[in-house]
Amino acid sequence: SIPLGFFGGIGGAAKSGILVKGSNFLEALNNVDTIVFDKTGTLTKGVFKVTKIHTLGRESEENLLEYAAFAESYSSHPIATSILKAYGKEINKSEIENYDEISGHGIKVSVKGKRILAGNKKLMNKENITYNVMDETGTVVHIAIDGNYAGYIVISDEIKDDAEKAVRELRGIGVKKLVMLTGDSKLVGETISRQLGLDEVHAELLPDQKVEKLELLEKQKQTKGKLLFVGDGINDAPVLARADLGVAMGGLGSDAAIEAADIVIMTDEPSKLVNAIKIAKRTRSIVW
Ligand code: ADP
Ligand code: MG
Repeated sequence: SIPLGFFGGIGGAAKSGILVKGSNFLEALNNVDTIVFDKTGTLTKGVFKVTKIHTLGRESEENLLEYAAFAESYSSHPIATSILKAYGKEINKSEIENYDEISGHGIKVSVKGKRILAGNKKLMNKENITYNVMDETGTVVHIAIDGNYAGYIVISDEIKDDAEKAVRELRGIGVKKLVMLTGDSKLVGETISRQLGLDEVHAELLPDQKVEKLELLEKQKQTKGKLLFVGDGINDAPVLARADLGVAMGGLGSDAAIEAADIVIMTDEPSKLVNAIKIAKRTRSIVW
């Protein structure tokens, strides 16, 4: 049977916007010593701004942005939202055909009869497009039109106001290792990891590779503690399901993510993890 005190703990957590799906997860929260964060939407706001449009000749900047916006118009990825916002005009959906969103890569689609690719270098490699980009500090979205490289759009995200405090306080309550996983570039990943003072970062990972990396981190663990993964649910439901403790953040994540998670944080504040662990510790001191 479940000790009664757990219900108090789960109820208290719910009042703080933290939904714990069972007393076993509250108990597990007590023993978390490794936290693995997804980047976009979890440590960063997930609200990108277009900061640069770089064309390679043939197309104007306006046209490049227009093709990108049409290509992204069915995607709910934060990258898509930012490109559509920068474009700011109506999209005639009848000009879009054969839409294909490839997880961790980007979009493959026909726009106005042209074959458009909009995504990262993995997508370009997969489609045999030669690209050439200087080191950029933002996330780069490459565009190809009818099999030719056309240029790239740089978009930048910001670290959440709350993230640094969360990292500091998590260390303060005894979490030993803080890791970030991201599908974004090494440069972007390392910059954010350094700013936040994380212990490790693994970048350019596809959703499957995030699962593999998580399994490796679990294997490498020297201690008996639990590994908690926290993500915003976009492309990370498999990792949420695989972690000792999967936490979906933002409340508005996909149904698949909420389903896969053990704990759901209704706000988008990573510092709620600190509250969750504190509530778990307090509950244990009452129950045992
Ligand atoms: P993260 O690990 O940062 O949450 P994702 O796994 O969602 O990122 O995506 C990884 C990478 O895949 C992105 O940084 C981007 O390069 C590319 N990508 C994913 N979706 C899109 C899209 N709709 N348009 C362009 N690029 C995309
Ligand atoms: Mg993500």
